[in-house]
Amino acid sequence: MITTKDLQHLFALIAADIAAHRDHLCELDGAIGDGDHGLAMDAGCEASVKAVAALDPAQATPAAAFNTAAKAFLNAVGASSGPLYATAFMRAGAAVKDRPDLSDEEFLRAFAAMAAGIQERGKAEPGEKTMVDAWKPAADAALDAWASGASLLECFDLAERAARQGCEATRDMTAAKGRASRLGERVIGHIDPGAASAAIIIASIAKFVE
Ligand code: ADP
Ligand code: MG
Ligand code: MG
Repeated sequence: MITTKDLQHLFALIAADIAAHRDHLCELDGAIGDGDHGLAMDAGCEASVKAVAALDPAQATPAAAFNTAAKAFLNAVGASSGPLYATAFMRAGAAVKDRPDLSDEEFLRAFAAMAAGIQERGKAEPGEKTMVDAWKPAADAALDAWASGASLLECFDLAERAARQGCEATRDMTAAKGRASRLGERVIGHIDPGAASAAIIIASIAKFVE
């Protein structure tokens, strides 16, 4: 069972891992975008972890925690990642029952809902050199593994691997969405910064379920 207290811990893990990679994410974005992705994700995660930590876990459900994170992330981030992750967290909140604990399956559904929310909000398909190239294969891998009876730990282990591979694969792509789409073939050879931060977040979640 996963409680609001557990989610407070998860958001803290994510924020610490993103903070540790902030400069690297800015460098990746500097090559094919405007160089702010690390700052944007760091600000968003920092705001989310603060807002979620301020909740009383005896009062606020996990669903409420996801919604709180969504609002905080959106308010803190002016870049395109703001509405994308705000939608992801909102969809996670909507995917679970408004009760004090989440089952493993609900947590997995919340994760898959994040990926679906990002895809719907940004209207990006896999192969367009965006964070969807990490999120979608990760969610698909986790859902497939769950359907064949894997544990939550195994599901997220596979998701982490799929996200890392999906992120690596963006190196060979041209971009069809976001700023990088204006640069044509010049972006080939560079990893998409949003896919890189997604792989970090998914790795943080895998660490959390261990
Ligand atoms: P901005 O480009 O506004 O500065 P960020 O630097 O925070 O925003 O985020 C850039 C990342 O956002 C890209 O690397 C890409 O992964 C992601 N992105 C941009 N547009 C979309 C979209 N339509 N759908 C999904 N992801 C997108
Ligand atoms: Mg940027
Ligand atoms: Mg920007």
